[in-house]
Amino acid sequence: MIQRFGSRFLLGMLATLVAAAAVLIVSGSLAGALVALVGGIVVVLLAFGAADTNLAAPPAADPVPPSAPLAPVLEAIVEPVLVIANGRVEEANGPAREVLGNHITGQDVRLAIRHPAAAERLTAAPGTGSSEPINLVGLGTLDQRWELRVTDLPDGRRVAHLIDQTRSYAAERMRVDFVANASHELRTPLASILGFAETQADGAGDDPAMRDRFLKVMADEARRMQRLVEDLISLSRIEAEKYRLPDASVDLGDLVSEVHSELMDAADERASDIVADIAANVPPVGGDRIQLSQALHNLIGNAMKYGRAGTPVTVKLWRDATNMVRLSVGDEGDGIPPEHIPRLTERFYRVDSGRSRALGGTGLGLAIVKHIVERHRGRLDIASQVGRGTVVTILLPAAVSSKGNATVTEGPKPA
Ligand code: ADP
Repeated sequence: MIQRFGSRFLLGMLATLVAAAAVLIVSGSLAGALVALVGGIVVVLLAFGAADTNLAAPPAADPVPPSAPLAPVLEAIVEPVLVIANGRVEEANGPAREVLGNHITGQDVRLAIRHPAAAERLTAAPGTGSSEPINLVGLGTLDQRWELRVTDLPDGRRVAHLIDQTRSYAAERMRVDFVANASHELRTPLASILGFAETQADGAGDDPAMRDRFLKVMADEARRMQRLVEDLISLSRIEAEKYRLPDASVDLGDLVSEVHSELMDAADERASDIVADIAANVPPVGGDRIQLSQALHNLIGNAMKYGRAGTPVTVKLWRDATNMVRLSVGDEGDGIPPEHIPRLTERFYRVDSGRSRALGGTGLGLAIVKHIVERHRGRLDIASQVGRGTVVTILLPAAVSSKGNATVTEGPKPA
């Protein structure tokens, strides 16, 4: 400690001794001298202890390891990163070379990233460039969107980091389109209801036949809005549960019978065209019964709507060789031209909007089915032949027993 604090500590101790001796000489009291001595020592130790906490030199840092080469560090980063020195690309990792070209190392950065705002930022005098990210379109493929972030290093070099924003941009576009479409879909029946209500108020309601016709149109439009709102609520509920794997054991054969009875009870004249073909020994699936029922309602509803009147709507259930449970709904209708098939599960996508609306469609039925199937870790297949009809199949993994085997339900299922 003496070594650490040096002469000031020794002086403090010396002063304490002198003070104790003075007390002894002046007062002749040994006890008083001892109190002065101990008190003094404590004061000196406390003072230098506090100094130790506040002023002690920091512990010596670990020896600095020799600096590692930069390239392997950059290669470990999955996003494109460039190091720029004197306006030229000094280092570029693999993802950067993939997006900007293999030749960019050593190249003028304005040629490597051909974008005016990026070039201006990357060649600005040190410390003068903005730290705001720059949005770039068209690097790599034409529709790719990037955010460029530039950091100035103390040695004058720069690090340019490209962050791929293509997916979040597409998600944002989808969200904006969805809000615009949903508003439009709601506004149309609402405008119609308001228009008829105003016409009624203007005296058209005096004619009973006219009034009944108007009231029917208003009720139909209100029901259309109701269906749309219900589908929107369903969609948002299913999306909210997206990552929660449904775990109830659902017997799809029973579910088909249940949905069939519900449609018969609803007195839909097409319900009597439903033909169920349920194979024996179909294992249950791990699922959410209410959502699977909704998916089945939507598929059978489409087959009834778009299939020709009086033709069968065939619901089949079987287990395939890969132990997947397949539930298909087929109709004999006009079918769907192949170019539309990849887009049918997009929200509000319709092959023929007028026909869909006239049949009471919301344009959300297949989007709901797709989300339900995804939540069940299943797959949706749509096969169609123009002029012949459409078959939509849901594939779901069979429920697995605690022993790891697919559970098998014995015996034939009711049709
Ligand atoms: P909608 O409420 O319009 O029926 P869906 O999301 O259920 O919406 O279906 C999207 C579109 O796919 C429909 O508008 C229709 O054009 C087409 N479609 C769906 N199912 C069938 C089918 N079984 N036969 C022919 N076209 C279908």
